[in-house]
Amino acid sequence: MTSSARPLLNRRLAEFGTTIFAEMSALAVATGAINLGQGFPDTDGPEAIREAAVRALRDGRGNQYPPGPGVPELRTAVAAHQLRRYGLSYDPDTEVLVTAGATEAIAAALLALVEPGDEVVALEPYYDSYAACIAMAGGRRVPVTLRPHEGAFRLDLDELRAAVTDRTRLLLLNTPHNPTGAVLTRAELTAVAELAVERDLLVVTDEVYEHLVFDDAEHIPLATLPGMRDRTVTVGSAGKTFSFTGWKVGWITAAPGLVTAVRSAKQFLTYVASGPFQYAVAEALALPESYFAAFREDMRARREVLAAGLAEAGFGVFKPAGTYFITTDIRPLGESDGFAFCRSLPERAGVVAIPNAVFYDHRTEGAPYVRFAFCKQIPVLEEAASRLKALAG
Ligand SMILES: *Cc1c(COP(=O)(O)O)cnc(C)c1O
Repeated sequence: MTSSARPLLNRRLAEFGTTIFAEMSALAVATGAINLGQGFPDTDGPEAIREAAVRALRDGRGNQYPPGPGVPELRTAVAAHQLRRYGLSYDPDTEVLVTAGATEAIAAALLALVEPGDEVVALEPYYDSYAACIAMAGGRRVPVTLRPHEGAFRLDLDELRAAVTDRTRLLLLNTPHNPTGAVLTRAELTAVAELAVERDLLVVTDEVYEHLVFDDAEHIPLATLPGMRDRTVTVGSAGKTFSFTGWKVGWITAAPGLVTAVRSAKQFLTYVASGPFQYAVAEALALPESYFAAFREDMRARREVLAAGLAEAGFGVFKPAGTYFITTDIRPLGESDGFAFCRSLPERAGVVAIPNAVFYDHRTEGAPYVRFAFCKQIPVLEEAASRLKALAG
């Protein structure tokens, strides 16, 4: 018998409600505002890769359940990519697992590796699925807050060390970091690695923006640091790198024991996904370096347009070293509540943005920050910049 007094949504998920992206995207549609909220490109990825997906469909590759770990072509391509770019050697048969996007990889990793009651230390602000996945796994999240320092968000290493207790099982990292655009430096990653080794922690590191780093910033996979390869689950995805966010092809690379554990959870989530797209992504990962360089340069140019527009409109701008997001400070505009600001922005300026506070447990820490996505066509960004000037007026 069900009791009407008992809520339908269970206690683990009750606090999460509907994601902010649904609310803000609906607002964009209702008001005709330019949607710089959700981070998806408004231009599809390479034609040749789309054609590869069509070919796979036509040739009957991946139309039925692909193998549980992913098609061999893709696992081999992921391993080759990690070796070529980072000198990281993984066995495609035992150390690579294909997932339904990075989202499933993160969910499966947490469900597999976290015991109820374990503490999971994660960088705050965090990607919106992290808190919910830690909760579904029965873990306790322990945020370590990134704070502005000399124009960029930085990790306080003392705070990180203080956050680790005897109950900590896992560090959940994200670099390049959404939403702040921070790219963890070698010094920061070295400190993380030393801590993980000293306290015998597992690390799940979300590196879906590995190819989107700008200027002098360098993406350094945590798994390349001493002592880390065998305790790190590295998460990648085709969505952001190849501008096919709807394909939902992601992967992990890790030591065999970790891959086996994560696969145990993954097999009961989707089992498999995205059959024909897996073959296309295998081809995408083998694209020449010129593709990745042009993609980076293209996004850098977009960042310049939006960053300049936001500064001109009066925002405090944290120019991102990576990702396709710009976090801004609204206090120079005389505002302090990002939620209220984002709810009124479509009306005031015809633009939609996301209040960073939704990515914080410490909501007041995140209150003055607002995130804009720049993975949009230059004329769209120019129009948004021109509309935002109304705020300076
Ligand atoms: C977009 C995003 C993801 C999700 O990637 P999918 O492959 O689309 O599931 C995960 N982590 C971060 C930080 C992201 O920005």
